[in-house]
Amino acid sequence: MQLYHIRYGYIEIVYFMAQHFLLSAQARSLSLAQVMRLTYQEAFDLFLSLRYAENGGKPHCPKCGGFEVYRYESRRIFKCKACQAQFSATSNTIFASRKLAIRDILAAIAIFANGAKGHSALQLSRDIDCQYRTAYVLAHKLRESMSAETKNVILSGEVEIDGAYFGGHAKPANRKEDRIDRRLAENQTGKRLCVVVMRQRGGRTLTRVGISELEAVPTIMQRVAPGTVIHADEASAWDRLQGRYDMRRINHSVCYSDGIACTNQAESFFSRLRRAELGTHHNIRKAYLDSYAAEMAWREDHRRDSNGVQFIGIAKSAAQHPVSRQWKGYWQRHLPK
Ligand SMILES: [Zn+2]
Repeated sequence: MQLYHIRYGYIEIVYFMAQHFLLSAQARSLSLAQVMRLTYQEAFDLFLSLRYAENGGKPHCPKCGGFEVYRYESRRIFKCKACQAQFSATSNTIFASRKLAIRDILAAIAIFANGAKGHSALQLSRDIDCQYRTAYVLAHKLRESMSAETKNVILSGEVEIDGAYFGGHAKPANRKEDRIDRRLAENQTGKRLCVVVMRQRGGRTLTRVGISELEAVPTIMQRVAPGTVIHADEASAWDRLQGRYDMRRINHSVCYSDGIACTNQAESFFSRLRRAELGTHHNIRKAYLDSYAAEMAWREDHRRDSNGVQFIGIAKSAAQHPVSRQWKGYWQRHLPK
């Protein structure tokens, strides 16, 4: 229910907003049709309830933090009573200067949430009928806000650690005698990067992308609390973790689990990232491998949530995420001249 006061030619709005139905327990499973049936106003209110979730969906001023705001009914923008600043529902968020209507953004998030092994930008652009470039940037913005969720997380308890190589596919030569062994250091192109995963059992999954497993050791020391039980394979890089952590090592050439050490949850993450690389994106650019790895970590951590809960998780993180330095105006800087 909303209460309106007319004041100085524009409308002051006082919110007594009921919880939006998509945020209720009944909406645990979400269909795209539900989102597409929203009126513009309903989509707008849903967005506000996600962005200002901590304040019951009531907007406050991004400049001074004032809670008393007027609303220009015709243009759906707000004005702060205290500092007179004008702002919109998406001002100062990752969706600022958006090209898409709010309902289309919400629909894109619903589609994105449903892609268990990711969703390609090309497909997303067809799904919501927008330019490829718009879909590409939108998907990357969602990845950025998803990965921000674990920015300050420190792992503890029991943590599985493992590394695997991704990206930079090289087509093997036609004739067998022309093929080279790319596992050898001298034959490596440098296009493949090592994704190291740190996965807390019953907790969150963190990733780090670099040249080698060894390079990830300082990050592990920062992100995993001392004294944690670490499960890892025999790779020599992990020898450096000895002493600081309670190490459980497993030799994968012998078995995957010996009842003491086991890195199956780390493997499960790699399997999802591998399926995303080969099945969805076909080719992941080296520069963005860390974003895709973080996205798949988020999906692993939320794999048991219903798609309605996943939708709200992604949409809320994004709606509350500040303007992206990397993705704001990306195509102005990257269009071919
Ligand atoms: Zn203000």
